[in-house]
Amino acid sequence: MSIRVGLGYDSHRFVEGRPCILAGQHLPHDRGLAGHSDADAVAHAVTDAVLGAAGLGDIGALFPDTDAAWKDADSMRLLAMAMERVLAAGWRIGNLDCVVITERPKIGPHAAAMAAALAEVLRCAPGQIGIKGKTNETMGFTGRNEGLAVIATVLLESAA
Ligand code: MG
Repeated sequence: MSIRVGLGYDSHRFVEGRPCILAGQHLPHDRGLAGHSDADAVAHAVTDAVLGAAGLGDIGALFPDTDAAWKDADSMRLLAMAMERVLAAGWRIGNLDCVVITERPKIGPHAAAMAAALAEVLRCAPGQIGIKGKTNETMGFTGRNEGLAVIATVLLESAA
């Protein structure tokens, strides 16, 4: 069996008047995330991780933010489209692990729902997905609540 690892990173700024959507879940928060799409930083980091592991480029190449088609796009839908390519190339998810770096909102209460939503899109079981929140101990841009960051790592297995 062949295996491949992938790494994805994303960050988005908090702004007034937008929802805070992570892994397709609306998290209650006083601000949301700025971006051309729905700014779902978890979906974006995971998309880059799976594409990178499969050697299929990155989210910016597939869904350029200069293209009006992706304005306010549902990023879980973009992840599903990317995963179709990964599956077609003969790969399946071994496991995925994600860290959401933010002071608030708290991620823990939403982690199970986020994992379930990702599992559906990635065609794997929720038990193959880890989601955890970490604060940055008030340091840096996440520590100042200017935005949040996500790191995702994935292991792909050959489906054959
Ligand atoms: Mg992004």
